[in-house]
Amino acid sequence: MLYFGCVKISLDRCVACGNCVAICPVGAIDIDRDIRRAVVDEERCVECFTCYRGLSTEHLNPTLVRTIRRVFGWLRMRFDPEPDVCPTAAIEPQELVWPRVVRRAFSDPLVPHESTGIHGRGTEEVKTNDVTHRVSLGEAGFTVEFGRPTVSASFRDISIVTQALAAAEVTFEANNPVTHLMTDASTGKIREDILDERVLSAIVEIKTTLERVPEILRIVTQSSKKIDTIVSIGVSTRCDEEGDSALEKILEDEGVPFWRGKTNLGLGRAPGPA
Ligand code: SF4
Ligand code: SF4
Repeated sequence: MLYFGCVKISLDRCVACGNCVAICPVGAIDIDRDIRRAVVDEERCVECFTCYRGLSTEHLNPTLVRTIRRVFGWLRMRFDPEPDVCPTAAIEPQELVWPRVVRRAFSDPLVPHESTGIHGRGTEEVKTNDVTHRVSLGEAGFTVEFGRPTVSASFRDISIVTQALAAAEVTFEANNPVTHLMTDASTGKIREDILDERVLSAIVEIKTTLERVPEILRIVTQSSKKIDTIVSIGVSTRCDEEGDSALEKILEDEGVPFWRGKTNLGLGRAPGPA
């Protein structure tokens, strides 16, 4: 399947105003001072579409704008467009093919992931409501998130952590997009052809028993030291009828401050018997 991305900036139309530089969440756009145009570092670009969608466009004549900017420069004055505008509509979508299309699936929240049909990176259970009772009493659900705006992450790095988790025989969530990209969930290996693809962020979802929380935290902490991105980990569990769980003490014993970031009330329509 073909998608459209936004990695090209027209050399004919760009007037080097720099507005798109600030809007790129991973710093993939820069002004090349030799050619006086904005250029995209295609290795760093995660195909998030922010530059294309986030700037409004005007259709000013590029030659005229360059001339005015040059004349104003001689007079020690500036002629700049409003900061949220590409004045010459110079950012052009491009067709993306496999494996580069993976970047956009994980980086553009408006594109549904092919494997789950869900916009974004995780499954509905971790994003909104666990109406499928994925995490039962005595179990712990983990979200391990790789990357952040300005940092991003490669699947080669993610694969190092998923293989460490697989060696501990955790259960990867079958409907999670990263799990779909593994060649074998029992090894945690991610398919070779996407290892060099970078995404704004990706979430790995796993489940274990509550007692294994300290072990999993240590595995993620240790394996994360081998990779070059930010890793954030979230742990969830099901509360008893009093609203309590053993998770608070487990985390505090590990020296991890506990707070309820999100309380899932189980609202929503369950697809079947709990
Ligand atoms: S906003 Fe448009 S004209 Fe300005 S530098 Fe970026 S691509 Fe070029
Ligand atoms: S990372 Fe996003 S904003 Fe930056 S160049 Fe690529 S598509 Fe545009």
